[in-house]
Amino acid sequence: MKVVSTAVEIQALARGYRDTGLTIGLVPTMGWFHQGHLALMKEAGNRADKVIVSLFVNPIQFGPDEDLDNYPHDLERDCKLAEEVGVDLLYAPNKEFMYPDGFSTTVHIAGLTSGLCGGDRPGHFDGVTTVVSKLFNQTLPHVAVFGEKDFQQLAVIRQLVRDLDFPIEIIGHPIVREKSGLAMSSRNSYLKKDEMNAALSLSKAIACAKRAAGEKQDISVQEIRKIVTDVILAHPECGIDYIEVVDKTTLQNCEVVNSDSMLVLAVKINKRIRLLDNSIIQGN
Ligand code: AMP
Repeated sequence: MKVVSTAVEIQALARGYRDTGLTIGLVPTMGWFHQGHLALMKEAGNRADKVIVSLFVNPIQFGPDEDLDNYPHDLERDCKLAEEVGVDLLYAPNKEFMYPDGFSTTVHIAGLTSGLCGGDRPGHFDGVTTVVSKLFNQTLPHVAVFGEKDFQQLAVIRQLVRDLDFPIEIIGHPIVREKSGLAMSSRNSYLKKDEMNAALSLSKAIACAKRAAGEKQDISVQEIRKIVTDVILAHPECGIDYIEVVDKTTLQNCEVVNSDSMLVLAVKINKRIRLLDNSIIQGN
């Protein structure tokens, strides 16, 4: 596996692949790899001849009081893990290369970005769509794989690709979980032992909601939200950023629960660790 750090290098290598007829799969990440990231990389390998993984903790998608400075980072560890799953190129640019003096472009998607995580983290999705647009132009992928854990992000990227005519197929990968049910996340590394039960309440609450929806076909959105809220707030460490039932495509709030309804949650553990989880409500 080759590790490169500049746009010029990665673009030349990507062009080289394309010129010899090889297809490219991209997996954008912020590093500190876990099995969720590695599953995305394997999926990219199933769908393309060459896999490029970007590793960039993107400063412009973090708010001023967020965890940019503490975000876990170990390039050597991540290189080893990526190599083990057959990644061809790891692209780890530094922020001066990504955002040189004078950088002044923002890619903004209206609508889809205004609620949920966009409401709690103003500017977050502008940072995401700006960096992902740059990564697409730098790595020239045919397909790019994103996780469903960041459900709103995936919807926003699909919109970006449609609106800006990027000739890239976007693949969503299901959430990879610990045996306990906890959705894997680099931010789980911040959890202390005595915070684990609180963290587990997200997946437990989803399981309770799905069970209730299985037992009562005409369950209401309010009932679902109450079930989830009660399970989560049973843990005093938990603060709710949002618990919503939304349409899986438009992300608009659902008035009734149906097969397109997604339960989406963002919960802060001890005001420090923001965890996301989601699931379709009816079915698997
Ligand atoms: P991150 O490094 O957290 O920005 O994540 C990089 C990519 O991995 C994003 O597309 C995430 O949605 C995806 N991802 C993170 N955690 C998981 C998970 N538990 N299951 C599936 N995909 C994930």
